[in-house]
Amino acid sequence: MSSATETDRTPQRVRHTVRLRPLEVLRAERLTPRMLRVTLGGAALEGFTSLGFDDHVKLFFPRPGDALPVAGAEGVSFPESAPRPPARDYTPRRYDAQAGTLAIDFALHEAGPATAWAEQAAPGQTLLVGGPRGSLVIPTAFDWHLLVGDETALPAIGRRLEELPAGSRAVVVAEVEGPEEEQTFQSAASVSVSWVHRRGAAPGRLDGLSAALAAAAFPPGAFYAWVAAESQVAKVLRRQLIAEKGAEPRWLKAAGYWKLGQSAVHEQHAED
Ligand SMILES: Cc1cc2nc3c(=O)[nH]c(=O)nc-3n(C[C@H](O)[C@H](O)[C@H](O)COP(=O)(O)OP(=O)(O)OC[C@H]3O[C@@H](n4cnc5c(N)ncnc54)[C@H](O)[C@@H]3O)c2cc1C
Repeated sequence: MSSATETDRTPQRVRHTVRLRPLEVLRAERLTPRMLRVTLGGAALEGFTSLGFDDHVKLFFPRPGDALPVAGAEGVSFPESAPRPPARDYTPRRYDAQAGTLAIDFALHEAGPATAWAEQAAPGQTLLVGGPRGSLVIPTAFDWHLLVGDETALPAIGRRLEELPAGSRAVVVAEVEGPEEEQTFQSAASVSVSWVHRRGAAPGRLDGLSAALAAAAFPPGAFYAWVAAESQVAKVLRRQLIAEKGAEPRWLKAAGYWKLGQSAVHEQHAED
């Protein structure tokens, strides 16, 4: 069991200066039938910083008549004269400062400006990316790490697994449509993944992830639990983890990454 202290395990908040960056689409490729990776680049990517595996950037999808960004002394910004374009939150899946690339993975679903944009993304197009505004750096000094979520959580889960050091251990419980949507993760850690398949059932239901968590055998020791899914699902899984699986509320982060019937929702569940 690790001898890490409370301080070693306390997440740190770091704030960043927010910048709006017009980035160029370099590539768009399918990782699985419903997961699309868009790789962005260009001079505006310089200085990009993302310290936490579950950071988010805001992607803007201008409609006709929306404000378009203008370059000024303070950098690129939206003028006040027209409505701002709709924005959606996405995880900086992989930033490679040397190559000058930023990958964003889009879980494609039925409808929405982000999904519609991703489906038509092609090299040479521009995507407006804001942030990240801040990072929560969750330490790795735990005996093991629990990562739970649906497709929208997979970019953060994949990034965490890539960033965990050798010798660490992770348990992943993830819901996707079916076996064709399972991803292979790169990691120096020892990782076990339980996939939950919806097989045609509507996304955003609690039962699959909840049953998989109930059945999961947890390793001994202190763990950090991270959950991201449909908002109500994430809220109930948080309660389940505390009540039934020994999760420590201070080492637990549960977030709604989307909400049934609503657009652009991000909810943090910290209290019952
Ligand atoms: C911090 C954070 C990080 C995120 N990172 C990622 C990421 O890296 N990759 C990713 O794919 N998503 C990610 N998401 C989720 C993503 O922002 C939402 O799914 C977003 O609503 C998609 O926008 P849209 O324009 O496609 O749909 P919207 O216009 O927002 O929604 C349209 C309709 O679709 C429903 N809906 C939204 N998302 C889904 C879904 N995934 N499955 C089924 N129905 C849905 C809504 O309830 C609504 O009824 C993240 C969210 C947050 C808060």
